[in-house]
Amino acid sequence: MIELYPTKCNLCGGVVVYISNSKIYGKEYGSGKCYYCTECGAYVGTHKPRPKEALGILGNAEMREMKMRCHDMFDKKWKNEQTSKKRHSARKKAYRELANNLNIPIEECHFGYFDMIMLNKAYEILKAENA
Ligand SMILES: [Zn+2]
Repeated sequence: MIELYPTKCNLCGGVVVYISNSKIYGKEYGSGKCYYCTECGAYVGTHKPRPKEALGILGNAEMREMKMRCHDMFDKKWKNEQTSKKRHSARKKAYRELANNLNIPIEECHFGYFDMIMLNKAYEILKAENA
């Protein structure tokens, strides 16, 4: 499981601090907070209604880029459904399929929880589906 209140960086082992995300974006977005590694600069946002809880593991630029590429392909699997009910069930199904393909429990199937190895695996799976 992921650390909801990280104090140590999952990438470099550096000290993680809880700060305003204006340090990263120039102004506060969403929850206004993030966890930030003082060594390598990796970070992760927090939940808006629960601003102390991390959304996933800390990510660097490479991971953020890969996450975006995965999400683009993944979201195509459900976003074009006509009704919100259909989108909801198509999204659930898409996560279930991806979890099965990655051989992980559905609760752990979130792009924000994936390290680079898992992101690469997810990317290959999604790319093969899209081909
Ligand atoms: Zn770090």
